Amino acid sequence: MTMPDVLTFAKEWMERVLENGDTAIDATAGTGRDTLHLAHCVGSGGHVFSFDIQTEALEQTKQRLDKHLLYERTTLINKGHEHAAAQIPADHRKKLKAAVFNLGYLPGGNKTITTRTETTIQAISQLLDIIKPGGLLFVVVYPGHPEGRMEKDKLEEYAAALPQRDIQVLRYEFMNQVNHPPFLFIFDKRQE
Ligand code: SAM
Repeated sequence: MTMPDVLTFAKEWMERVLENGDTAIDATAGTGRDTLHLAHCVGSGGHVFSFDIQTEALEQTKQRLDKHLLYERTTLINKGHEHAAAQIPADHRKKLKAAVFNLGYLPGGNKTITTRTETTIQAISQLLDIIKPGGLLFVVVYPGHPEGRMEKDKLEEYAAALPQRDIQVLRYEFMNQVNHPPFLFIFDKRQE
């Protein structure tokens, strides 16, 4: 048996936590791969809200969704994820079971437009407040570029300081891969 890579591991847990009718958030739409996966997981009764600051990313996401006839299950929002909580209508907040951050820059895009430590942590903190107990928040961290290294350091501090009775944090990482491979945090909002 081979352990799944970081992105596959995250996807498997998205499938486990989401059911038909749930709401999910893709906080970094990029090329739309995660939005598409979430749209499958929430089923025909569910909905996905996807954020990106680049219109180019949202266009790629829309194309991908159209190809799979799943655009109707999504709302694409051209705003930073630090505004995500305010953008989710109250009826969807009650059903919010998963949120995904795939940090860094748009694959094939401008490498200077990247997620930033401060707004990443603001957004994670807001979404952990509104996600349902039992919900999961996924963060894939890429420490191979300068802003990514800062995000890694600050996220480690942030995650380690969360009260364990409210949030459990899992870290999934291959320790002996070369070239600063990505790793995953899963924040698990505990049920009462
Ligand atoms: N999940 C994507 C996929 O499936 O292709 C990959 C995401 S890519 C690594 C990171 C994305 O985050 C970029 O498209 C970038 O524009 C976006 N981004 C950067 N800062 C952001 C912010 N404050 N809010 C939302 N998106 C942001």
